[in-house]
Amino acid sequence: MTKKFYVTTAIDYVNAEPHIGHAFEKVIADAFVRWKRSKGENVFFLTGVDENAQKNVQAAESSGIPVKEFIDKNTASFVELCRKLDISYSNFIRTTDKKHSIEVKKIVKKIIDEGDIYKGIYEGLYCVGCEAYYTEKDLIDGKCPEHNKKPELRKEEAYFFKLSKYEKELKKIIPKYVLPKFRGNEVLSRIDEGLKDICVSRKGATWGISFPNDENYKIWVWIDALLNYYSGADGNWPADLHIIGKGINWFHSVIWPAILLSAKVPLPKKLFVHGYLNTEGKKMSKSLGNVISPLKLIEKYGTDAVRYSLLRCSVFEDTDYSERILVTRYNNELANKLGNLVSRVSGLIEKTGIEKTPNKLIKKLNEKKINKFMENYELDKALNEIFSFIDNCNEYVQKKKPWETKDKKVLYELKESLLKVAELLSPFIPESAEKIKKDFSAKKIKKGEPLFVKIEFSTPKSVPQIMKVNGKEKINKFKKPEGIMSVDEVEFKEWEKMDLRVAQIKKVEDIPGADKLYKLSIDVGELGVRIICAGLKEFYTKDRLKSKKIIYFANLKPRMMKGIESQGMLLAASTEDHKKVSLILPDSEVENGSRIG
Ligand SMILES: [Zn+2]
Repeated sequence: MTKKFYVTTAIDYVNAEPHIGHAFEKVIADAFVRWKRSKGENVFFLTGVDENAQKNVQAAESSGIPVKEFIDKNTASFVELCRKLDISYSNFIRTTDKKHSIEVKKIVKKIIDEGDIYKGIYEGLYCVGCEAYYTEKDLIDGKCPEHNKKPELRKEEAYFFKLSKYEKELKKIIPKYVLPKFRGNEVLSRIDEGLKDICVSRKGATWGISFPNDENYKIWVWIDALLNYYSGADGNWPADLHIIGKGINWFHSVIWPAILLSAKVPLPKKLFVHGYLNTEGKKMSKSLGNVISPLKLIEKYGTDAVRYSLLRCSVFEDTDYSERILVTRYNNELANKLGNLVSRVSGLIEKTGIEKTPNKLIKKLNEKKINKFMENYELDKALNEIFSFIDNCNEYVQKKKPWETKDKKVLYELKESLLKVAELLSPFIPESAEKIKKDFSAKKIKKGEPLFVKIEFSTPKSVPQIMKVNGKEKINKFKKPEGIMSVDEVEFKEWEKMDLRVAQIKKVEDIPGADKLYKLSIDVGELGVRIICAGLKEFYTKDRLKSKKIIYFANLKPRMMKGIESQGMLLAASTEDHKKVSLILPDSEVENGSRIG
């Protein structure tokens, strides 16, 4: 068997349903794989799930479902996501697979035999979210930078891996291995601060893979998880390309090659680190409560709309993403540019016919440049280039006016060009590309159903409200959305976007120069402590507010009030003249951070 070009994505925790970040990575990998295959390469593509992580167990416990059942259910959602996104993987690995755990034990045994795993005492700060220990200086305000949560202090007899032994070799490997370069540099400068041995065991854990020589310990989930690339390779190791998000760069750039060096297994060739998707400049994550469900988006807009909108995001830098961005890209590019071109040209050919001629139009296409971008994993730039050729085609139609001239040769050029466009777009939007190909290779070309139907995306517009204060007309700066009077006009998806939480007031302070506002520090459970400014001073004394539980609108865009950034707002009822304001109070037994909805 000859080794195939081997591509992997990270494997996902199954502690929750998939979010859009998972879809992003899978789509990047899939588009790259499809492009490689279109060049005649034989590609093996691995994706899957990390089922052994402690946080899966915790999530199962807190939802009251047996761990195995919980994991099976969520894993099914990830498989479904892959299916609905048209992910052309060759193997989907689950780390609870027997074959995987056998391979993991074998490799760990090899590392033990090499003398690179030894027993010692570990005391440190452990973030369950990351499944990793942190040092004090890695934390921001004492909290994990990925999860904004305080790590737990743990002390235990443990097994250590001699990571420090591989410092020199890693420094040599990383510059050639990690892409983009700045991600490699980030890791190198962290190595320069000193590389310590790492704890690779968990004592008394009930879930995961046991140490080969000691049943009292489970293997640290990261060692187990990283080895999925090896155990799931189906004879194709070493990997040619690992695709991962920036949050797990360290594990893949440093720990992973070190494990392989110790076990004397060949190293992977390239690590491609992509950025994150943000909403309004904020990281998307479950704990921040601003997660977009890719399954819901696909259900609403279809596979190719979601794939396309994600693939237009920058791969290396963080990018803003939202449903609105999806719709804008879909309407402007897929519907207006590509869809219109397809329907126009097919309609004209149906009426006029075609006549074979050399295709001059295709000269405007820079295919070399597109391939170069793809080789460098700059998928967004390749798409840009393809769409600039689509612009050329649209301009050509406008210029040549084939509806007037009945020029069959021009229509032939457009047909050939659209077939080329279909070929180029096929890694990105396979289903739509296939339709274009089919339509324009038919014996009798006909105008078919529109490829992309424009989406109406209506959100309430902000309009200033005029209100009377002391007889004078005043523009209310608290803008009300249009149509708020009619409740049934607010779509459920709008309501669902609001993240309402139970929070507890911890501190009430005056704000210099503000006679109506208090500065409140509120505890929002898993979201941490937030600061909000609230116009309650005329209605509540500080003592009455202290330790009250309130309802907090958590994902409202922060804004500056009297020099303080107010991170959201609390819910209160008020009379129309604003003379009386009362807080809406949840039951005092409700835990801080609980969701309302
Ligand atoms: Zn963390």
